[in-house]
Amino acid sequence: SKEKSGTHYHFFETEMSDRNMESIKLENALYKALDNEELVIYYQPQIDSRSETIIGVEALLRWIHPTEGMISPADFIPIAEETGLIIPIGEWVLKNACKQLKEWQDQGNTSLCMSVNLSGLQFEEDDLVIMVKGILEDVNLAPEFLHIELTENQIIKNTEITMRKMKQLKDLGVKIAIDDFGTGYSSLGYLKNFPIDALKIDKSFIQDVVEDSDNAAITNTIITLAQNLNLNVIAEGVETEEQLEFLLSRNCSIMQGFFFSRPIKAEELEKKYLRGL
Ligand code: C2E
Ligand code: CA
Ligand code: CA
Ligand code: CA
Repeated sequence: SKEKSGTHYHFFETEMSDRNMESIKLENALYKALDNEELVIYYQPQIDSRSETIIGVEALLRWIHPTEGMISPADFIPIAEETGLIIPIGEWVLKNACKQLKEWQDQGNTSLCMSVNLSGLQFEEDDLVIMVKGILEDVNLAPEFLHIELTENQIIKNTEITMRKMKQLKDLGVKIAIDDFGTGYSSLGYLKNFPIDALKIDKSFIQDVVEDSDNAAITNTIITLAQNLNLNVIAEGVETEEQLEFLLSRNCSIMQGFFFSRPIKAEELEKKYLRGL
């Protein structure tokens, strides 16, 4: 009846505005988060399988909200993307991660690399490449130590523009990895056209790679594909010794996951993994 649908509509409207209030509150807080120094970069080690030593770290953003506590990037990166805040935030992450790496290199960790996640929206910015170049020069960091991670879906959303910028970044000497590889809807054909250096196997495949023969088959295939294309391959989300053994037996070159370390603060990483002055 008319009445009933009217009630439904009203109910729906209330729910919507509650949700909007929540996201508007978060949005306003996120605007201030950068200035208020509530954003912190955590670092997760990337381990070379052969030498079993740390070869790099991935920068993973954390928001320490004054009343809500730690908010996951899975929750606030989408808001940052909707509002465009991902542009200043992404630049801040890149700059600070590069500065931090330079400091660690100067302390004797001369071949350590830094992986930074970039949003597809950053690739739509005209001055992305100039921004990256500027940061590398300011910080005096050799470009080959910066590894940019871009998801498969971000690449295919905007193929032309993304491909052009990836090539320009490659020309600078920066390395590029495809993140969450295997979860997107792309064809494999693009792999031969894109200037990439590494594939990163999504943790959803690694999670039960030992128990699930489908995930084992997908993981095997990605590793072989990377080897045949002469790309590095990184397994993310390695949590158990069994997963590690599986990946070692397949010659997966780089590993990352809670088995080795969670993402941790810079000082903790220094104490546990790095050479100091
Ligand atoms: P991602 O790039 O795929 O990062 C890997 C995620 O897996 C991280 O979650 C990491 O903490 C988590 N992880 C690592 N090892 C393990 C493991 O062994 N087991 C499990 N269960 N999880 C593991 P996190 O830090 O919550 O980040 C979530 C996502 O947020 C990232 O996924 C990335 O897409 C995005 N993100 C984080 N920092 C940034 C940033 O600075 N810029 C952009 N654009 N996105 C970011
Ligand atoms: Ca990543
Ligand atoms: Ca701009
Ligand atoms: Ca992932």
